Amino acid sequence: MSNAETPVARDLFIGGSYRSAASGKRFETRDPATGELLAEVAEAGFEDLDAAVKAARTAVEGGPWAQMTPRQRGKVLFRAADLLMSRVDEFARIETRDNGKPIFESAKIDMPACAEALAYFGGYADKVYGRTLPSGTGSFLFTLREPVGVVGAITPWNFPLLQAMWKIAPALACGNAVILKPASLTPLTALLFAELLSQAGLPPGAFNVVPGPGEVIGQAMAEHPGIDKITFTGETETGKKILRAAAGTVKRVSMELGGKSPNIVFADADLEAAARGAFNGIFYGKGEVCAAGSRLLVEKSVHEALMEKLVERAKKAVPADPLDPKTRLGSLVSEKQRDTVSKYVERGVTEGARLVAGGHKRDVGGKGAFFEATVFDGVSPDMEIAREEIFGPVLATLEFGSVDEAISLGNRVRYGLAAAVWTRDIKKALRVAREIQAGTVWVNTYNFYDPGLPFGGYKQSGFGRERGEEAMHEYTQVKSVWTDLG
Ligand code: NDP
Repeated sequence: MSNAETPVARDLFIGGSYRSAASGKRFETRDPATGELLAEVAEAGFEDLDAAVKAARTAVEGGPWAQMTPRQRGKVLFRAADLLMSRVDEFARIETRDNGKPIFESAKIDMPACAEALAYFGGYADKVYGRTLPSGTGSFLFTLREPVGVVGAITPWNFPLLQAMWKIAPALACGNAVILKPASLTPLTALLFAELLSQAGLPPGAFNVVPGPGEVIGQAMAEHPGIDKITFTGETETGKKILRAAAGTVKRVSMELGGKSPNIVFADADLEAAARGAFNGIFYGKGEVCAAGSRLLVEKSVHEALMEKLVERAKKAVPADPLDPKTRLGSLVSEKQRDTVSKYVERGVTEGARLVAGGHKRDVGGKGAFFEATVFDGVSPDMEIAREEIFGPVLATLEFGSVDEAISLGNRVRYGLAAAVWTRDIKKALRVAREIQAGTVWVNTYNFYDPGLPFGGYKQSGFGRERGEEAMHEYTQVKSVWTDLG
């Protein structure tokens, strides 16, 4: 691998321009596939956050952003979508180098999905309707759907720009200002995107980026009286901390948290398609995907046949250079994440699960945080690998004998983000879809998303929805107006 590029300095983005942190502090971001230093990023502190809040408040309280019509706001997002697609290779390369994900995913999936989100919500900007109420002749009653004000967005490292976009696009479309704190491991595309939004015509202060340690700057955002709402994607335990921190100012919050999603294969399924779906469900995005199908539940009678197909695929999925367009399994995001994954695998073996594919750390050219596509069979529901979110390319396979058992196993975790069911029987598919406690259920497919289809969790996978009309409700508040005409 020869990916060497000169490391750069990246600054905070506040009030429409880049600036160093008031403290002068910087932190490093590295390519996990090579260990190379990519950038030294300005580390926001409290003073910087205050400046970002001030800029954002000005933008929404009488500033040029507040004065734009909804349609003009929509056009900014349309232009941003076009600009992003005109620079797709540049953004994709930076995303891949910062995160370790295959360039195929960054260039062909993540960046186009970012542009789609911008265009989708750009179209919504002038369609955020209130209602009029039937109220007789003596009065006129109506509602207005207004922006919540300043939105603090805290995002994870797995889909760095895309996770942010699912917050930025609807929040801006509704007329809010956004302060984004990207994950410390992957801050680069968000910082670059800030400039692109300005080029698209977004006025100063409407979008600000303040990278820095979550426990400091993320916590401060959750507590800040000048921020009206926190939208968070990340780990369930971090979500709990944010909820506590936001309580002091009774802030609105929405939470997209972890998952341990069941991928349920019945004996009457198309097994070839199900094996492909099980593979993509867990190994797409290196398994660092909140909705990953990390629990494969297979009906007894087809267990052996399905595993044969799946294991064959897994053994062929060799981790490789993320910048190679043919690569489908990149580097995990960091050595630390790889160690976490590795410990779970050891624990699975100790607890008596059968390792049937992968299970080991890998390198490419002597470098990188790569991990093999790993499949466990013979997993029982109480094992750690069946209960906890591993957030890596590790699949736990369990067996069931009836529809009731499949549903009960599927629901037997604290999470409820996603699920899939594979069957040719529509009644069975719809029964499972109804009875599984998950925010998204796929039938005979896995890992497909649409900007119009709401996404979010049941149970400890969070609350609130991203995408679709539901997302617009997350970023607006309702005002009721009673007009006396008597
Ligand atoms: P974390 O929860 O560790 O971090 C997410 C973000 O929160 C980061 O920006 C982080 O900053 C910040 N943060 C950390 N601690 C605090 C705090 N005390 N207060 C405020 N902000 C804080 O998650 P990961 O980045 O490790 O992402 C992986 C997790 O995210 C997985 O559990 C996964 O399931 C979940 N996830 C959920 C998704 C969903 O849609 N439901 C989608 C994607 C991921 P810093 O980087 O500086 O630590």
